[in-house]
Formats: sequence, structure tokens, C-alpha cells
Amino acid sequence: MGQIYIVLNWKIYASIADCFILPPYIRQLAGEVLSYNLKFILCPPAPFLSTVFEVLKPLPKNLALGAQDISHIEDGAATGEIAAKTVSPWASYTIVGHSEHRHNHHETNYRISEKASLALKYNLVPIICVGEEKRSGIATTFVEEQLAQSLVLLDKEALKKVIIAYEPVWAIGAQDPAPQDYAENMLKHLRKLLPAETKIMYGGSVFEDNAKDFIEVGFDGLFIGRASLKRKSLEGIINKIKDVINSRSTTQK
Ligand code: PEP
Repeated sequence: MGQIYIVLNWKIYASIADCFILPPYIRQLAGEVLSYNLKFILCPPAPFLSTVFEVLKPLPKNLALGAQDISHIEDGAATGEIAAKTVSPWASYTIVGHSEHRHNHHETNYRISEKASLALKYNLVPIICVGEEKRSGIATTFVEEQLAQSLVLLDKEALKKVIIAYEPVWAIGAQDPAPQDYAENMLKHLRKLLPAETKIMYGGSVFEDNAKDFIEVGFDGLFIGRASLKRKSLEGIINKIKDVINSRSTTQK
């Protein structure tokens, strides 16, 4: 089993006070699961990146910071934008194409592709979010097209470096995760479209009671919103993933 990625997307829920309370706990959790090949990518709001970095320093090797988005503009007159070069001293990853950002900023797939390619230029691994708006039998067709357009500026080598987060939009911020077989069907479809090296994670209403469903069917990680700010929820999710990893290593013996 390869590395499992856990993205902790704090959105704008977190306050500056949370930046002193939660990261030491996440650091401890990361230390406890080093032998499990689990990697945490903590994505606080951009203005808090440097604070969280200082609180976590020195970062253990299985914990990194990510930005929640970057601008498609590299430099210059772009008031209010957050540039790749601005976050890169602290972040090693960046989310791009999150459905909330796509929606609030009317972003096109081409725009996401621009961001992903700029991220790579600044040594940020882009975590590219895709997902259908409505639960449907033809979701794979929609996501295939969205993915192709969101990757249009990346060549095959670049594709091997990115992470894809499959996040059905109807599951984000809801109490309605994708059923295991539905998510597995999408994963199988996406695997056919991408190089074998490309990591694919699942996001959307991930909690302790369903976390293992997605790891069991072969996703390379989980993209977690609300539960990432609650110690108990996070611990519960990690314990479930550990169970899956433990049962795999027992069957392989
Ligand atoms: C998300 O932030 O993309 C997300 C999946 O949020 P939640 O886990 O709260 O559904």
C-alpha cells in the first residue's frame, strides 16, 4: 500500500487562536502514525500559513502545509490575489479548483489548469479538485470532461506529480458521503484516464463512520473539511484508516 494523504481543509472556519491550539495536536498525531505511511497536508487560510509554520517548526516529514488556493496571475498588478510565490515559503501543496472557489469566483476549467501549472512552477504540488454537481449515473462522463479541461496545460510528466481530489459537490459540507460503490466506480474510471503515478483522493462528508470505505476501495487519501477542525473526529478517522492498513498487512503476510 502506497502513501495515504490526508488533506485537512480548514476553509475559513479557523481563527488565529485555532492556529496555536490545533497544529501541535496534528503534529503529535502525525508522529504517532509515521510507521503507517500517512501524510498530513494542513491547509489553513493563507494569512495564517506563516503562523502555523512557526508553531509546527520543525515539521515532521509526514506533515506539510498547503494553501487553499492560488491566483492564476504570477506577479504584478492583481490586488487581493494570493500568488504562488507568496505562499511557497511555507506551503508545499496548494488546492486548486475546489468547488466552493470555482463557484464563488466563476472559475473555468482552463483557469484551474493555469493555476495547476503555475503551482508546479513554484514547487507547489497542486491538489486539483473535480466532482459532479448532482448525483447521477452519468457523473463519470461529466468528471472525465472536467478533469481533461482542468489538466489541459499539463504534460504527462506534470500529470504524474499532481494529486486529484474527487469530491462530488453534493457531498461537500453535507451529511451525505458518496456510497462506497459509487465512489469506487468513479475511482476506477479516473484511474483509466491518468498515469499510474497520479494520486487520487476522495472528499465529501468524510467522518469516522465512513473514512475506511474510501481507503478500502483504493483511494490514495481523504480530503477532509469540517472534521479536520475537531480533534475527536480526526482521531476517529485516522484510527479507521489504521485498521484498514493493519488488515491489509495481515492478509499480505
Ligand atoms: C471539502 O472541504 O472539500 C469537504 C469535503 O468538506 P466536508 O468534509 O466538510 O464535507
